[in-house]
Amino acid sequence: MNIDLTGKIALVTGAGHGIGKAIAMGLALSGATVAINDINPDACERVAAEVQSMGGHASLPAGAAAFHADVSNKHAVQAMLEGVLDKWGRLDLLINNAGVEPHASLLTLDEWDWRRTIDVNLTGPFLCSQSAARVMKDTGGGVIVNIASIAGRAAGLRDRSAYVASKTGLIGLTKESARELAVYNIRVNAVCPGVIVTEMTAHLRQNEAQMRKWLDDIPQGRLGEPDDVVGLVLFLCSDAAAYITGQAINVDGGKVMM
Ligand code: NAD
Repeated sequence: MNIDLTGKIALVTGAGHGIGKAIAMGLALSGATVAINDINPDACERVAAEVQSMGGHASLPAGAAAFHADVSNKHAVQAMLEGVLDKWGRLDLLINNAGVEPHASLLTLDEWDWRRTIDVNLTGPFLCSQSAARVMKDTGGGVIVNIASIAGRAAGLRDRSAYVASKTGLIGLTKESARELAVYNIRVNAVCPGVIVTEMTAHLRQNEAQMRKWLDDIPQGRLGEPDDVVGLVLFLCSDAAAYITGQAINVDGGKVMM
């Protein structure tokens, strides 16, 4: 994809696996320097090393670095932002991607799982956006992309009340932060993937009946790959999307048409 993000400093949360890892790679291939966050220290170190092995950029010392932190922990998020600033002096692009998805019916969902899902999927993006926007507003602006889900646009998944609530909330947060931050030249959009082949959906994909039902519901007739999400994220990060903010856009093979 021909999008040039040379010189941009990006932070991708939950970049140790799956969609976040693919986004981090895509940003690096487009010229950005990438802060790789994950709660799993080994995973973020591994991805940071992979990105670095793709080569740094002439004006910057390295193409990537690992920032191990739990996005739901305010102090950890602040320390992570300080680490990014210490290393590169600015932050231009924030991709709020880290997420969890517990499965349990509303009748049996454990309160801890409910709170953890809201903490990671909604409070995490709030904390990261707040810290990032405080930096971006003093450096001329930036872009925030929230990885939500079609689950936040059209409820209808069984046994996912916490997940659906968190992603619906994240789309609301996207719109509100877009409205408030536009004055600082910060754009905020949400990307809403459909069913993507990652660890998050691994156990669901083992259920043949469920798989058949999903595929029947997807006009393009296949599940998505992490790379299917990357193009839209890069576009939203680029100046080609300069007049787009406050939007939630599906990447789902046509499963949910709004
Ligand atoms: P994944 O489980 O493969 O990767 C998620 C990553 O987030 C992991 O590396 C994990 O360690 C990290 N993480 C979890 N909690 C964290 C925390 N508190 N702080 C920092 N990192 C944390 O999942 P994925 O499928 O790549 O999902 C990425 C995002 O895309 C999530 O927000 C998910 O809700 C969303 N999404 C996924 C799908 C799908 O079908 N896979 C569909 C729609 C939306």
